[in-house]
This record gives sequence, C-alpha cells and structure tokens, in this order.
Amino acid sequence: MSLQLVRRQVCELHAELVRYGLVVWTAGNVSARVPGEDLMVIKPSGVGYEELTPEAMVVCDLDGNLVAGDYAPSSDTAAHAYVYRHRPDVGGVVHTHSTYASAWAARGEPVPCVLTAMADEFGGEIPVGPFALIGGDDIGRGIVETLDGHRSPAVLMRNHGVFTIGRTAKAAVKAAVMTEDVARTVHLARAYGEPVPIDGKDVDALYDRYQNVYGQRSTTDGAIVR
Ligand SMILES: [Zn+2]
Repeated sequence: MSLQLVRRQVCELHAELVRYGLVVWTAGNVSARVPGEDLMVIKPSGVGYEELTPEAMVVCDLDGNLVAGDYAPSSDTAAHAYVYRHRPDVGGVVHTHSTYASAWAARGEPVPCVLTAMADEFGGEIPVGPFALIGGDDIGRGIVETLDGHRSPAVLMRNHGVFTIGRTAKAAVKAAVMTEDVARTVHLARAYGEPVPIDGKDVDALYDRYQNVYGQRSTTDGAIVR
C-alpha cells in the first residue's frame, strides 16, 4: 500500500470521528501503520477536521519522530507510536474524548458487559487504564498493559478518554464508535436501575460467533481476533 493511499485513508477516517460525534474542536486523532515499513501516518497537531487533507497528514517513525509533513504531528503521537512498537498485530490506533465513554473514564469505572453488542465487539467489559500524563511513554504503556489482559480493542484511560486499536485504522475507528455507543446505552441503563450481567460462557459464544462467523468474510474490516 502506497504512503499516499495511507495518507488518504487516515484523512478520510478523521471525518468519521466528526460524523459519529466523537470529537469537538481538534481533540481526537486517527493513525495507521504504513504496511511493511516502520512508519505511521497521523493527524497534524491543532488542525481542524474540516481543514484536513491527505497532504496535511504527518508521517512519523515508530519512535514518534517526524519523517515527512508540513505540520507537527499530533500531541498524542508518542502514545500511538508506543502501541505500534509493542503490538505488531495493530495497524491502526484511535483516540477520542467522546462524551459518555469519557464520563466512565472520569469515574475510573469499566463499562460492564451487559449488552450482546458489547460481547460481540469487546468480548467483555471495556477496561480502565491508569492515569497518565501526556508526553512520554506513560499513556502508551498504560494502553498496552491494560489491553494485554482483555479481548477489548478499547481502553478508557482514567480521567482522560478512549484509545482503541485495530488490525486496520478503520477497525480502530469502528471500535471507537462502538465504545461511545455502548457507553451511552449502559449509562442510560444504570440511570434507571442495575443492568443485568451476561454469563461468561454466553459472552464467549457471542464473541466467537461475531469475530469468526458473522458478516462477509471477504470484506472483513480487520477487527483483532485474539
Ligand atoms: Zn486526549
């Protein structure tokens, strides 16, 4: 896949963050690994979504250093780069402060698996990662260490927001969309009572069917199966 194609895909996927209401102003970003290279493409820092073009996307190495681009890379680049260095199976990373999911992060509370759609996509709860300051490797390490113990492609970083991973950037965007959707539904359920948990064996069966049987195999969108 050419670098130009990756730039275009990453640019177009940012529009999905806007379309699904996951971002305000410039607070959210998508990156993709460049296949076969130790490179990633990520959003430029501080540029509005409506101003993004494929050419404005920034190319970095997997230590987060600028390789090509007219702008500085996203301030979350170190976190994305850490994930790519430590998870060779990951081809895309997304970060948002989407409202309902971030409310769970603010409480430091995992979203419990109380919907079949959660079992399908996340294989269990959406876990909470540690509090971490932006800049160094702390956020990236928190993402990788938290997701190591879960089937979920999403983690709620405490007091911060959502990071999702996928085999492709599109799969990571889908996980970010689904994270906000179920965070909102479970929030509403909790507002009126106590949601009913799903038995572990049923979660396993739902997850297995959705990840391995459901949908058009020829057009798989790259969800991670572990
Ligand atoms: Zn953030």
